Amino acid sequence: MQHTYDVVIAGGAVIGSAAAFFLMNHPAFSGRVLVIEPDPGYQNCATTRSAASIRHQFSTPENIRMSQFGTEFVKDIGTWLAVDGEAPQLDFVEGGYLFLATAPGLPVLQANHRIQRELGVEVALLEPAALAERFPWLNREDLAGASLGLSGEGWLDAYGLLRGFRRKAIALGAEYRQARVVGLEREGNRIARVSLDDGSTVSCGAVINAAGTGARALAATAGIALPVESRKRFVFYFKCRTTITGCPLVIDPSGAYFRPEGAGFICGISPAEANDPECYDFDVDHTVFDDVLWPTLAHRVPAFEAIKVESAWAGHYDVNTLDHNVILGPHPDLGNLLFANGFSGHGLQQAPAVGRALAELVCDGGYRSLDLGALGWKRVLEGRALREVNVV
Ligand SMILES: Cc1cc2nc3c(=O)[nH]c(=O)nc-3n(C[C@H](O)[C@H](O)[C@H](O)COP(=O)(O)OP(=O)(O)OC[C@H]3O[C@@H](n4cnc5c(N)ncnc54)[C@H](O)[C@@H]3O)c2cc1C
Repeated sequence: MQHTYDVVIAGGAVIGSAAAFFLMNHPAFSGRVLVIEPDPGYQNCATTRSAASIRHQFSTPENIRMSQFGTEFVKDIGTWLAVDGEAPQLDFVEGGYLFLATAPGLPVLQANHRIQRELGVEVALLEPAALAERFPWLNREDLAGASLGLSGEGWLDAYGLLRGFRRKAIALGAEYRQARVVGLEREGNRIARVSLDDGSTVSCGAVINAAGTGARALAATAGIALPVESRKRFVFYFKCRTTITGCPLVIDPSGAYFRPEGAGFICGISPAEANDPECYDFDVDHTVFDDVLWPTLAHRVPAFEAIKVESAWAGHYDVNTLDHNVILGPHPDLGNLLFANGFSGHGLQQAPAVGRALAELVCDGGYRSLDLGALGWKRVLEGRALREVNVV
C-alpha cells in the first residue's frame, strides 16, 4: 500500500524531530508529516552520544546566531515543548566555555572575540593573571590568554531535548514510523516518493534528509554526492579526588576538552585529519585517553594527575569535508529535497534553529527568522568553503 504525506523526514533524532516540531507548529502548515526512524531507542545516533553542550564562541556569524537561538529555546523549553503542562527536563547548566590560547593562538581568539562581541555574545578575554584568580586549579604557564563565555553557554540533557521535540511533534499530529529510507525516487526535478526497507513506498510533497551519518548514502540514491563522512569520536568519563570548583567547558590549545558531568568530568579530543578515517564502528580506543588525553589534562590541571576513567563511549560526527559546517536547504536540482547534514560536531545546539529554518523553507519558501542562505548547497557545488575556525 502507498501512503501520501506532505513532508517525509528521513531520520528522527534531534534534527529530524526538531524539523517535525517546527513544521507542525508553523501557523501556515496544515499538512501531514511522517518521520521515518529505524532506531526508536536512539542507541547509536550522534544526538544521544554527544557531549551535549552549547557555545556561542564560533567564528562564523551563522553558527553564533544559531547557537544563540539554541540557548533561548532551551531556557524557554516549557513554552515551546510542554505537553499537557509538562515541560521536558533538560537540566541546563549554564557553565560557560573557556577557550585557552598560547601566544601563537591569541590573535585567532582576539579576531573571534571581535565577531562574537559584534553579535552580542557575552564573552570576555582574560589575561593570564585574571585566569589565575578565577581558575586557580589551572596551569597557565604556557598560556597567553583565554576567552570565557559569561552567559548562554553550557550543557544539557541531549536525550531530553530529542524526546521533547519528538513528544511535542507527535502531540501536534506528526507521525513516526520505525523503518529505514532506502531510496529517494526522482521524477524530473523532484522526489516523488521514498522507498523503505520494509518494502513499502511513501509519496511525498517534500523530503528532509536528517539521517546524520546515513545522509550521504541516502542522498546517493537520488544521484546527489553529499560531501559528508562519518568520523569516530570518543568521550571518556572520569573522576578526580580533588574538588575543582567553577569549572566551565575548557578547550585546551591542544584541542582537548573537558567539562563537569555529574560527580565527575567528561573529556575528548578530535584526532589530526590524517588520522581520522571514515568509520562506523563503536569500538573505544583506550590508548587515546592513556597516551593523549591524560597527559594533556594533567598538564593543564595538575589535580588531574590522579584521575580514574570510569566509563567511555564512541559516537560519530557527520563531518562536512568541505568546511565543517552544516549543508542546509534544498538541492538546486531537486527543489523538494532538503538537507540538514554535515554538522561536524555542533549539531545538537543548532537543532532549534535548523528545525525552524527547515519549516520556514517548506512553508514560506525562504528563511524568515534567520538568513542561513550562506549554509546552502551553492557553496558546496562551487567548492567555496565557509570555514569555521572554532571546530572542537
Ligand atoms: C562524541 C560527540 C560529541 C558531540 N558533542 C556535541 C556538543 O557538545 N554540542 C553539539 O551541539 N553537538 C555535539 N555533537 C554533534 C551532535 O551530536 C550532532 O551534530 C547532532 O546530534 C546531529 O543530529 P542528527 O539528528 O542530524 O543526527 P543523529 O543524531 O546521528 O541522528 C540521525 C538519525 O537518522 C537515522 N537514520 C540514518 N539513516 C537513515 C535512513 N536511511 N532512513 C531513516 N533514518 C535514518 C539514524 O537512526 C539516527 O537516529 C557531538 C557528536 C558526537 C558524536
